[in-house]
Amino acid sequence: MVKEIEKQGKTLYVCEECGLAYEDKHWAEKCQQWCKQYQSCDLEITQHAVLDQ
Ligand SMILES: [Zn+2]
Repeated sequence: MVKEIEKQGKTLYVCEECGLAYEDKHWAEKCQQWCKQYQSCDLEITQHAVLDQ
């Protein structure tokens, strides 16, 4: 399960493995699955992360 947080009226979805936040739940879930399995980040996924949290 990814973590949901509220930021400036927007809902962000946070990967609990690496802590990156995404506007799209789909990407957060992908990130978390990847992080759990490979213990590293995939650039294809992390480029969708929201950096200014
Ligand atoms: Zn992650």
